[in-house]
Amino acid sequence: MGATAGRGPRSASPARQRQGRPGGAAGPAGSPAVTHVFSIPLRTRFRGLTHREGMLIRGDAGWGEWSPFLEYADAEARPWLDCALEAAAGDWPDPVRDSVPVNVTVPACSPERAHAIVLAGGCTTAKVKVAEAGQALAEDEARLEAVRDALGPGGLIRIDANGGWDLEGAVAAIRLLALAAGGLEYVEQPCASVEDLAAVRRRVDAPIAADESIRRAADPYRVRDLEAADIAVLKVQPLGGVRACLRIAEDIGMPVVVSSAVETSIGIAAGVALAAALPSLEHACGLATVQLLADDVAVEPLLPVAGMLPVRRPAVDESAWERLCADPYRVAHWQQRLAGVRQA
Ligand SMILES: [Mg+2]
Repeated sequence: MGATAGRGPRSASPARQRQGRPGGAAGPAGSPAVTHVFSIPLRTRFRGLTHREGMLIRGDAGWGEWSPFLEYADAEARPWLDCALEAAAGDWPDPVRDSVPVNVTVPACSPERAHAIVLAGGCTTAKVKVAEAGQALAEDEARLEAVRDALGPGGLIRIDANGGWDLEGAVAAIRLLALAAGGLEYVEQPCASVEDLAAVRRRVDAPIAADESIRRAADPYRVRDLEAADIAVLKVQPLGGVRACLRIAEDIGMPVVVSSAVETSIGIAAGVALAAALPSLEHACGLATVQLLADDVAVEPLLPVAGMLPVRRPAVDESAWERLCADPYRVAHWQQRLAGVRQA
């Protein structure tokens, strides 16, 4: 049975199934929103999920992606919607470069798989997930040794703990993992709190990057005020769009790494627009994540070539919609969520 796109569970006409005009959900210019709800299989589980779900919203300049994580309440999903509406309106700053360097992302997988991912990625920087719940530190060490072997001595390795360590655990782990990796470019979010981030930073040699402490914080500037990080990770959806991130980058006073929230190429294009507009870009960006998805909604997916992503805005492949459409129950859920977030 053909999937529905942007419609309630009982929509019938295939022509109308491709576009949703839900009552009460105004579009970027106050008109009814034209939407499409997608569900794309992930090659590796992400946040415990096997599929990435989200909504595309069409505006005057094209499509924007709204894909807040499923458990996020309406208030937290609001800046993600601002990012989608900014994209749909085409309100992006002018680029100052025509391509951006990117890292390959290695999930908390086996050493063999990590090695293969790095070789296939074609990047000289690798970001490796560590401190995964249920895994031992020895597994992180083995994964990092495999990544170093695949990258060679000249590559850069950064690790992301997603706040998974306590203070003492972080200090011990970072010292061990720096040895296993043969040096670390930086350690992203070793602990959950800004205070612990600041304390870890004073006790290890590796630079510290803040991610969740910026994008999920009431005040993203506490990281700066407590001197808790050397690098700011900025993600356009949770932080309210390209222009909002540019302002944060200006005010936070540290180098920026633009990262994704594992979007389709439509959402990644917004991250690329930020990376392209930053006055200086010292580190590879975490935007080469389209390959974590088994499929894409774009005609020409935003995939890296020789470690670089082109600065461009991919067109939506409407012929892919039927196979990538969420089931009717999920489509209805996202329409309700959109209406709720607009009122939040
Ligand atoms: Mg992170």
